[in-house]
Amino acid sequence: MGIKENLDQFKKALLHHVQLVAVSKTKPESDILIAYNCGQRIFGENKVQELSNKHPQLPSDIEWHFIGHLQSNKVKYIAPFVSLIHGVDSLKLLKEINKQALKSNRTINCLLQFHIASEETKFGLNYEEAVEILNSESFALIKNVNIAGVMGMATYTNDEGVVRKEFKHLKEIFNDLKQEFFQYNENFKEISMGMSDDYTIAIEEGSTIVRIGSAIFGARY
Ligand SMILES: *Cc1c(COP(=O)(O)O)cnc(C)c1O
Repeated sequence: MGIKENLDQFKKALLHHVQLVAVSKTKPESDILIAYNCGQRIFGENKVQELSNKHPQLPSDIEWHFIGHLQSNKVKYIAPFVSLIHGVDSLKLLKEINKQALKSNRTINCLLQFHIASEETKFGLNYEEAVEILNSESFALIKNVNIAGVMGMATYTNDEGVVRKEFKHLKEIFNDLKQEFFQYNENFKEISMGMSDDYTIAIEEGSTIVRIGSAIFGARY
């Protein structure tokens, strides 16, 4: 099936409250335009260089989400236009995003990334680390970042039980942080979890943003 057909299926299948990020990494601008012409406006990229190249070539009403691991020294390249950074996992990075957001006279939406998978390699915070950041004096001084919620990636496995448990864990983290730090902050509302292979489980467990690449654009090589 083509990009249009795939997208139409997602639009029909996704509940109204779940946002679809079309993950266009490694895919050409022509593919992004096909999706754009079907009405898709939110696209996700995971490399700063690739995103910086694509952004000026494509319509300006696209909302670009950065979904990869972001190095502090590269924040400046995407700060002027990025609409949501999914993978924030340190205070150092938050401070740099704040600094660059201020320079661009913007507030940048960010999600705190949590390590929920059993794999060692995945990036992300644990609950205690997040609490430490949110309680810190430096965090209190950060005014140009809006913490919009949490993000996580489940273990890459066919075992649905494992994946479900990890998504449940992320939802609990979200609830606990909401209670402790964001009770009266309505901006803290997003749970970014679910990819092509596990989004149905993620939505059942409370996802509000799914990040779908290959199921829309086809396999990456
Ligand atoms: C590549 C990527 C996705 C999309 O993966 P698919 O399996 O192609 O849907 C989602 N989230 C992140 C963080 C990614 O890097």
